[in-house]
Amino acid sequence: MVRTRFAPSPTGSIHIGGMRTAIYNYLFAKASGGKFILRIEDTDAKRSKKQYEAEILKALKWLGCFPDEDFEKGGPYGPYRQSERKEIYRHYFEKLRKSDAVLYPCFCNAEELLKMKEEQQKQGKRIGYDGRCYFREKSEVERFLAEGRPHSYRLRLPHKSINFKDLIKGEVKIDLSSLSDPVILKSDGGFTYHFCVVVDDIEMKISHVIRGEDHLINTAYHLLIYSYLDENPPQYAHVALMVDPYGKKISKRTGGSTFLEMKEAGVLPEAVVSYLLSTGLGQEEIFKSMEEAIKAFNIEFLPKGKTHFDAGKLYSFNAKLIQSLSEEELLQRAQEGNYCQPYDLLERERLLEWLKAWKENIESLKDAGRVIQIFLCKQLDYELTDLKIITQEIREALEEVIDSIENQAGAVELLDKLVEVASSKNISKGSIMKVLRLAVTGQLKGPPLPTLLKILGTKKSIERIKNYLNASKKAR
Ligand code: GLU
Repeated sequence: MVRTRFAPSPTGSIHIGGMRTAIYNYLFAKASGGKFILRIEDTDAKRSKKQYEAEILKALKWLGCFPDEDFEKGGPYGPYRQSERKEIYRHYFEKLRKSDAVLYPCFCNAEELLKMKEEQQKQGKRIGYDGRCYFREKSEVERFLAEGRPHSYRLRLPHKSINFKDLIKGEVKIDLSSLSDPVILKSDGGFTYHFCVVVDDIEMKISHVIRGEDHLINTAYHLLIYSYLDENPPQYAHVALMVDPYGKKISKRTGGSTFLEMKEAGVLPEAVVSYLLSTGLGQEEIFKSMEEAIKAFNIEFLPKGKTHFDAGKLYSFNAKLIQSLSEEELLQRAQEGNYCQPYDLLERERLLEWLKAWKENIESLKDAGRVIQIFLCKQLDYELTDLKIITQEIREALEEVIDSIENQAGAVELLDKLVEVASSKNISKGSIMKVLRLAVTGQLKGPPLPTLLKILGTKKSIERIKNYLNASKKAR
C-alpha cells in the first residue's frame, strides 16, 4: 500500500512551496490508490503555533488534498503531532542505543558551538560540529555525567558513503565523512527532526517520501538511522526547489505566494494545482478538478529542475479556469468562499444573467464577488472622483429623464430618452453614458449599458441614478 505524508512545521503561513509538496504527495498516493497523511512536525516548540497548524489543514482541504489521517480526525498511527509522540521516540531511542549505533553525550553549550563556528569561519574550514565530545576521555565523560552537566546525544557518523536510488535524482551518493555528527536528543530532553522523521515514517508505514531537495543530504542521516534500527526505509523523491522570481527561497514575503493571499485574491484551488503541475510538465495544462489531476498524474509531473514561482502565471491559470466555469458555478463558489453577501433566491435568475454579462471582466472569485455585490447592494459606494465627473448639463439631463420616465418600464426607453434629451442639450452621447454607467454600477468599464439596465430593471436603475445625483451633490 502506498502511503505518503506531508510533514510541515507549523512555524509560519503555508505558502506555494508547502502546497506544492502536499499536492505532489497527495496525487502520488491517490494515483496509486494509497493514503495521504498529514503529520505536524512541531519539535520546535518555541516557533510552532497552533494557528499555523489550523491554517495548514484548512489549506489542504481547500486544495482538495484531504488527508486520510491527521491531527484532527486521527488514524491508526497517531498521534499526528510530533510533540505528542515523545514516548514513541523514547522507545526507538532505546532501540538505537542497543544497536551498533554510536551515541555519545555532547556537553558543548550554545556558546561553545558558536565559538567553534567562528573559528572554523576564520580558518576557512568546513562549518559543523567537529566531534570533540566524541574524543573525550571516558573518565571525564563519566564525571560530567555524574555532575549532572547538561548534555545532548549525538550520533557518530561512520566514515563511509550512503548510496540510494532517488525516484527523481537517480543514483545518489553522500559521503558521511563530509557531514557532522547530528544531535538526536537535545539537552532539554526533546528529540530532533532527524530522529523523529525516521521514527514517524517507520511507525506510520510511509512508503514514499516526496520532499524538497534541500533535504537530500539529510537523507544520508535518515538512512543511517534506518539501518541501525534494522528497518526498511521508504523510497525517496527529492524535488528541485521552487524559488522566488529572484532565485531566492520562497518565504511568506514572496508576493502572492501564501495560502491566505491566494484565498484573499480569489484564486481557485484548481488553478494552483494546474499551475504547479504545469511547472513539472513544462507545458500548460488545465486540470478542472483534483480527480482529473489524479487520473493524469505520474512521477513525470515532478520537476527535475529548479522552478521560479510566477504569480502572474498562476493568475493567468486562474483567469482561464474562471472562464471555464458556468455562471451557476461562479455564483456558488463566490458564495461559498464568502466573496459576496448571501442573496435572495428570487434574485437568482437575474444574478446569473448579470454574471453572464460581466463574465469576461472576471478573472478571480474576488472579481466575481465584486460583480455580484454591485448587483446586490442597496447603495453603491462611489469614488469621490467619480462623483465629481458630472457636469451641470448632464445632471439636468438625468433629472429630466428620471422625472419623465419614472413610472414607465423598460431599459431601452430609458436609454432612448436619455440620448434624446442629451442631444437636445448638446451633450455628447459618450459623456452622458459614462455618468450613467458610473451611477448604476460605480464602475467606469463593464458590459454594454442596455444589457445592464435590462437586468437591473428600470426601477433599480432609476434608484441608483437618484442616489448618484444626491451623492454627487454632496460631494461638490
Ligand atoms: N518538517 C520538515 C519540513 O518542513 C519535513 C521534511 C520531510 O518531509 O522529511 O521541511
